This record gives sequence, structure tokens and C-alpha cells, in this order.
Amino acid sequence: MLSRIEVFQGDITTLHVDVLVNAANPSLMGGGGVDGAIHRAAGPALLEACKVVRQQQGECAPGQAVITLAGDLPAKAVIHTVGPVWQGGEQHEARILEDSYRNSLNLAAANGYKTLAFPAISTGAYGFPRVAAAQIAVNTVSDYLTRKPLPERVYFVCYDEEDTRLYQRLLTQRGQETDA
Ligand code: ADP
Repeated sequence: MLSRIEVFQGDITTLHVDVLVNAANPSLMGGGGVDGAIHRAAGPALLEACKVVRQQQGECAPGQAVITLAGDLPAKAVIHTVGPVWQGGEQHEARILEDSYRNSLNLAAANGYKTLAFPAISTGAYGFPRVAAAQIAVNTVSDYLTRKPLPERVYFVCYDEEDTRLYQRLLTQRGQETDA
């Protein structure tokens, strides 16, 4: 399954994949970090689409995911998921982060999308420790792909070199464990 996972270093908004995952906040009304970058690159159509979702379903709870169009982005759709805010680790943060990854994958698969890109959810303003978050991302996505045909390919988008090395190391370790 690891052959279906790739690490990409750079700006997620530039990727020509079927669907990008946004690390949104519960309001779905945009914010800083990757959320801000995605809204800027997508243009006003994305905010309008998010407003419609808000009117229909209210706020997006941590761990949940919703899907919208992608406006001017090269991607076809955006999945907005709300990761957990790190509060020390005793508030189900790990389980909520797993839910964010799994619900995003389910939504992409339900819409027939073949390629999907994740940012490192919750590791910016939401303060989730990077190594633990990357471990959850790698394990949750690998386990999912073992069981499901879609998405065919998943990209972990790392914004800096340190995160890139971290993901590569965890994926190599995971490959050695599954080979063993
Ligand atoms: P959260 O609120 O979930 O913590 P942030 O957007 O603050 O979300 O950070 C999540 C991760 O996204 C961080 O690791 C940050 O470095 C990364 N990031 C920020 N901008 C981009 C971008 N344009 N493309 C990919 N990753 C990005």
C-alpha cells in the first residue's frame, strides 16, 4: 500500500490532484496557514461554497469533513476537515486526528476521486506535536489503503524540509514493518 503514498514538499495549492484536503476551522469561513492559502488560491467561489455548507449543516465538528468545489485551484474539489486543537493529549486529540484523516479519505472515495493530497493537519496553529501527528497520518492512511481501492494515490504535502524528512522516515519504517 505504501506504493500508493508519496511525499511532496511545497505548497499544496499548486497540486494537480483530484482533491485537496484543507485543515479548516469549525466555522469553515477561512483562516490562516494552509486554510488561508487554499482560500486565496481558490478565489471567492470557495468561500461561497463553504457558506452554503454552513447554512445547511452548521459548524464542522473536529474530526469531521465536508466537501466543496475547488474554485480556481487546479484540483477538482476541496475536502475541509477540522483537526483537533492540541490541549496536552488527554482530550482525545489522537483519535480526532485519525477521524480527520479517515473521514477525508471516505469522502474522497465516496465521490470517486483517485488522487488526494493532505497537509499536516493540526500541526500549525492547532499545535499538535509534529512527530506524533505524522505517525497518525502515516498509520491511518496506510491502514485505509490496505482495505480500500480509492483513493488510488495519496500525497502527504510537507511545507518544509524537516517535515519531508520526518514523513519519509516514518514511511520507510512502516514499509520495513510490513515487509517483516
Ligand atoms: P492547523 O490549524 O490545522 O494547525 P495550519 O494551517 O496552521 O493548520 O497548519 C497545518 C500545516 O500546514 C502546518 O504544518 C503548516 O506548515 C502547513 N502549511 C501552511 N501553509 C501550507 C501550504 N500552502 N501548503 C502546504 N502546507 C502548508
